[in-house]
This record gives sequence, structure tokens and C-alpha cells, in this order.
Amino acid sequence: MNKTRNPMGWGYSEDAIDRAELRPILDVMAPLLGGAPAEARPSPKPSDVRLATPAIEPPASLAAFVSTNHETRLLHAAGRSFRDLANLRAGAALPAPAAVATPRSTDELADTLAWASDRGLAAIPFGGGSSVVGGINPEDMDDWPGAVTIDLQGLDQVIEINERDRVVHAQAGILGPALEDALVGTGLAVRHYPQSYFHSTLGGWVATRGAGHFSTLRAKIEDRVQALSVMLPDGRTATTRALPASSIGPDPNRLWCGSEGALGVITDVRLRLVANPAHKLSAAIGFDDFESALEATRAIAQAEIWPAQMRVLDPFEHMVSTALAGSAGEGALMILGFEGEYDVSHARDAAVDIARAHGGTPRASGDQGAGNWRDAFFRQPYLRDALLDHAVIVDTFETALPWSAVPAFYHSVMEATGDALEDVCGHGGVACRVTHAYPDGVALYFSFYAPGEHAALLTQWQQLKAAVSEAVVDGGGTMSHHHAMGRDHRDHARTEIPAAFRSAIRGAKSALDPSGMLNPGLWFDD
Ligand SMILES: Cc1cc2nc3c(=O)[nH]c(=O)nc-3n(C[C@H](O)[C@H](O)[C@H](O)COP(=O)(O)OP(=O)(O)OC[C@H]3O[C@@H](n4cnc5c(N)ncnc54)[C@H](O)[C@@H]3O)c2cc1C
Repeated sequence: MNKTRNPMGWGYSEDAIDRAELRPILDVMAPLLGGAPAEARPSPKPSDVRLATPAIEPPASLAAFVSTNHETRLLHAAGRSFRDLANLRAGAALPAPAAVATPRSTDELADTLAWASDRGLAAIPFGGGSSVVGGINPEDMDDWPGAVTIDLQGLDQVIEINERDRVVHAQAGILGPALEDALVGTGLAVRHYPQSYFHSTLGGWVATRGAGHFSTLRAKIEDRVQALSVMLPDGRTATTRALPASSIGPDPNRLWCGSEGALGVITDVRLRLVANPAHKLSAAIGFDDFESALEATRAIAQAEIWPAQMRVLDPFEHMVSTALAGSAGEGALMILGFEGEYDVSHARDAAVDIARAHGGTPRASGDQGAGNWRDAFFRQPYLRDALLDHAVIVDTFETALPWSAVPAFYHSVMEATGDALEDVCGHGGVACRVTHAYPDGVALYFSFYAPGEHAALLTQWQQLKAAVSEAVVDGGGTMSHHHAMGRDHRDHARTEIPAAFRSAIRGAKSALDPSGMLNPGLWFDD
């Protein structure tokens, strides 16, 4: 069955969580929310959402791949953050692209850019539209008569699989599962699994410097980019060389990794592959408190054992996740996964020994074993939509910081978030987990839940977002380990970038995109 993208929420409409599935979850969450949440108010029909900006008809020569249809413009008007989803329901007119182009060849892409340039339109590269930082929203467009969104999913072919080099060369608009499917039978795999895997693209991963759910070694996509090609607004193409490494000046790949659609349209990428793992092992280890679990995580990361998976849940996150699965988890939990071409039992045993030495107790993979974790991981975003029907605010923020700053940071951010939830919503809960670990530091991922009010959701979210962003910046964390900067983090994150680097990037922006038409409104314009 062909599934349909949900224009008002996450993923496919057919996979939405229904009332029967939601009821026991609401029962578990009621104590956190200070009682039963608000009455359900389903999202409006897509045809009822007003678009703030008018459509601009494309010339007849582009009509085959440029649409001004209401639903298409709506689907490309917002990413999939809590702010986006609340905005879609808010009733106010939504900034939307004037037209959506889905070029099927690089010639059609060049024609789209030429039309946008001649017409004075902004152009927003769009992969899967799963941005959670306002990366593809046509906002802050006062200087432009409109924006054409360029959906890259028409450029979704695998160009070459080089088994000897273990590199796949693919067009940027290919979605995660299609890229992985193309490798079946080669013994090789991408094994890059962001939670948005089913609905995000290779180009989007690279443009945001995203991370998959592997906790060490293969975490960040930029480390796996061997080469890429980029098209500029005047139709020129820049292609970096396919090399394992080089010392010829600064790395050109790194200019476009994290460029968020503002320095060119990434058309294709050569990505390093790994062998399909022949061996997999996992372990679950309980700790009395998160601090001990963090110390064990640090020791394992610094021993350079490289677990593929090292998720560490604080007691609240552990309690909520087990309660949703019908059991009662106490204390902090570390979930370890190892995989490789060769036996990984030595690595697993060494990590478990280190965890034990830090007070951990191995568990039969009971509470939240590594086994069924993956399915629940991909299902979670659908829950956010179902809870939003009841005005429950569910959002996440993530960061990275050095080990030496971690304990103080964790406590100050938890406290600031708890206070903000209390002030803004009266109740709520905040949980934290380790998603990625490095020898010199760690990535922490916070989730919060609070009872909102249907009529005030956006204001409440803005107040919460401002408070948590301030806590992250004050504590010395980055505004994002893998979600990128977009429009939502721009003002808080700008201060992380040295002034000299900001002006260097502004120089690059004016050389590559002299009119500033590519995704205006991000920090690249400063
Ligand atoms: C439920 C959920 C879970 C998520 N989990 C993760 C996670 O585990 N890890 C993670 O890293 N992120 C995660 N994200 C965030 C998001 O999925 C990532 O940022 C992803 O990399 C975006 O890919 P996309 O193809 O959807 O890009 P889009 O959202 O379409 O675009 C993101 C940015 O990249 C630019 N862009 C896209 N394609 C191109 C291109 N070809 N050329 C130039 N610029 C381009 C856009 O202009 C925009 O600035 C999650 C998001 C959601 C909603």
C-alpha cells in the first residue's frame, strides 16, 4: 500500500496513533501533567489552513515539475518541530512557498534556479522537510516577493556503488530507506539511522550535519562524506574530489556540510559505507543514579571501545519509557550495543566490566532491552501528534559539551527547565539521555512534557524554548549537536561562532550566492 505523507503532522497519515493506543499512555502521563489533559481537539483539515503568501505561477516551460497546488505548498511550508506542528493548527495564516519545484534532473534544477533568480525569488532547498529548527520555513522573507521551495526528492538515484572503496555515490534527494535498499546484496550498508530516517534525505543529513543513532565512531554524517557536488544559483556546479584524506588547504567538503541550504544546492554525495555487521551483541546495565552512569559512559568512551549504541537514560526518562511499555524501571539505565565484522564479545565484556566498576548492575535485557528499542524509537514522533491533540507540549532539545562541564550543566539545565515548566504550564516533566559519547565529551538530549492550553500553545512553547535555550547557552553547551541552527536557534547560537569565522562565511556567501537568494534568514546573512 502506498502511504500518504501527513500534511499536518509527522510521517504517514496511515501510521498515526489512534485513540485506543493513546488511552493507556495518557493514563501513565496524567500524574506528570497534573491530571487529565485538555479535551482532544483534532488538527484542522489541510484545505482549511490559510497560506499567508500568494502563489506565483511558473512559466510554462517549468510547469511539468513546478506546482502551486495548495496541499503541495502546505506540505513544504513548515518542518516538523513542535513549533511547526502547533503553528499548523494555530489558525493564523502560514508563511508558505510561492511555488514548489521538484526537478528530476540537474538541468531542471538549473532552470529552477535561473527562474527564481530572474524573478527575484528566494530559493529554499528542501530534502524530507523533517527540520526541527525552522530550516525550510519561508519566514523572514520581507525583502523577497516570495520563495520557491526546491524539493530534491526528484533527484533520488544511486549513481554508483564502489564496493572496493566502500563508497556509495547517490543523488541528494534519496530518502534513508531507499539508499539502504539499493545496497542490499553488496554486503555493505550506510547504517546511518536518525530518528527521522524514513522521512529525511541524504542531502538533508549533510546540509544539517546530522547524527544517526550510533553513539560513537559513526555518529556524525560529516565524517562519512567522501565528496559532494553543489549547484550554485547561476547554474555552476562545484564538485569536491573523491579522496580518503587530503591536506590541500581547508577541507571543501566541510564548507557545505552544515550549510543549511544557504551556500548552494547539494546535488549528490559520495558517502563512506560499512560492512553489514556479522556480529551483534547488547547489554543493559542499571545504575542507582545518572551521575554514576555518566562516569561509566565517560570511562567507556575514553577506553576507545566504541560501542555502536550507548544510550544512557536518566531515572525520569527510564521511568517514563518503561511505564509506556507497561513496567516500572527505577534508577538510570545504560543500553549498550556492539556490532562488527568480527566477534565483538571482547568489546562488550570490557564495557560491561567498566560499567560494573562504576556501580552498574547488568540486567537481563528486561525493562527496556536493546532488542525492541529501535521500533519504539521510530514510533515516538507519532505520539507527539496524538498528544498535541490534547494540547500536551512535547518537545526536545539537544546539545554537546566537554565531560568536565557535564555534572553542573545537567543539574542547572534540569532545574531551569523544571522551573520554566512550572511557571508556564503549572506542571510538567523533563528527562535527559545520553545519545552520543566522545572521549572528550558527550551529547545530551532532553525531552519535556507539559499540559498546554489549546489557545496559547505557541506562546507557551516560545516561553519554554527561550528558557531552555538560555540555560543551554549559560551552561556552556552548543545549541545543537545534530539538529542544526535554522531559524529557531539562530539568535542563541550565533554567539558560539567566532566573529572572524562569521565574516569568512559571509564572504563565502557573497561569492557563491551574490544576491543572497538561497534560504535567506539564516545566520549566513548575519
Ligand atoms: C521526529 C524527528 C526526529 C529527528 N531525529 C533526528 C536524529 O536522530 N538525528 C538528526 O540528525 N536529526 C534528526 N531530526 C532532524 C532532521 O530530521 C534532520 O535535520 C535531517 O537531517 C533533515 O533532513 P531532511 O532531508 O528532512 O532535510 P530538510 O528538513 O528538508 O532540510 C534541512 C536543512 O537542510 C537544507 N537542505 C536539505 N536538502 C538540501 C540539499 N540537497 N542541498 C542543500 N541544502 C539542503 C534545507 O534548506 C534546510 O536548511 C529529527 C527530526 C524529527 C522531526
